[in-house]
Amino acid sequence: METEISKLGEFGLIDHLTKGIELKNPSSHRGIGDDAAVLKYPDTDVLVTTDLLLEGVHFDLTYVPLKHLGYKSAVVNFSDIYAMNGTPRQIVVSLGISSRFTVEHMEAFYDGLRLACEIYGVDLVGGDTSASRQGLVISITCIGDVEKDKAVFRNGAKDTDLICVSGDLGAAYMGLQLLEREKAASAGKPDFEPDFAGKEYLVERQLKPEARKDIIAELAKAGIKPTSMMDVSDGLSSELLHICKESDCGCRVYEDRTPIDYQTAVMAEELNMNLVTAAMNGGEDYELLFTVPLTDHEKVEKLPGIKVIGYITKPDLGCAMVTRDGQEMPLRAQGWNSLA
Ligand code: ADP
Ligand code: MG
Repeated sequence: METEISKLGEFGLIDHLTKGIELKNPSSHRGIGDDAAVLKYPDTDVLVTTDLLLEGVHFDLTYVPLKHLGYKSAVVNFSDIYAMNGTPRQIVVSLGISSRFTVEHMEAFYDGLRLACEIYGVDLVGGDTSASRQGLVISITCIGDVEKDKAVFRNGAKDTDLICVSGDLGAAYMGLQLLEREKAASAGKPDFEPDFAGKEYLVERQLKPEARKDIIAELAKAGIKPTSMMDVSDGLSSELLHICKESDCGCRVYEDRTPIDYQTAVMAEELNMNLVTAAMNGGEDYELLFTVPLTDHEKVEKLPGIKVIGYITKPDLGCAMVTRDGQEMPLRAQGWNSLA
């Protein structure tokens, strides 16, 4: 039985969705229930990031389950905080909900949100709730902290620094292609069963990404402070160009060092797409891209799940990928841009 939201009303819905939420971070002084949350951050730098997600622009509910959407909406914000070398502590969640959504729908969304908050140790401390004319609108703001002078920016890369990336690239993009393909195939067939056999990793990378909290911990443990860092949300090419522009430098990355999963490669072949182009421009990987001084080479090589893919140069050399046959291809930002 689905419950209409009007049965609970706005305040009833907020109470229902947020009941039992307990605060775990000492910096979360006061959470949901007053005019504003109160946060106490003594002696640390505070990080703030926000993301806006619109139905039909950023997500498609025909194949994205609401629980996954809740999880992903939170995790993409955590990823931005980790990319500053920080720790996410609180989120506030604002929603615009159209009349086709029921209480059960929003419960599923909050199940995902709560799970992400639990796994990453983040407190949900507030939000806002409104009706929307059409579709679901989600705005999440995340607050985090970083020890004084430990924040890592995009503008610190230096000539000869090594360029590193965590995990593998292009899988989330291939997952999206796969989900879109199955959606198109299902049109007009109510009994259609999508076939994801052998491609589970791609679907998971698209629907349930993780933020690389583990990499931030590993780097700290190894005593490595990156000179620059960002998360890979728009595709590696685009992110590398950001770092090089902000740091006033160039770069060389090697095609044969780009980390790509087997399932990504199989899918690219099936779709007749250039694999490296997909991996470099796909986006939504939520991996960490960072640079370290050359002197950290041995330390960084030892870390599991991190690959050295190239190096930083002087600005006049520009930004390029060195292909398998030794040619230099200028990097271009064809990233995922919902405004394009
Ligand atoms: P206001 O009238 O000041 O906007 P609300 O009645 O919207 O206050 O919110 C009451 C409390 O519930 C506040 O603490 C607010 O942060 C919280 N809240 C509202 N919407 C949400 C939501 N979608 N998720 C979590 N907390 C919410
Ligand atoms: Mg309000």
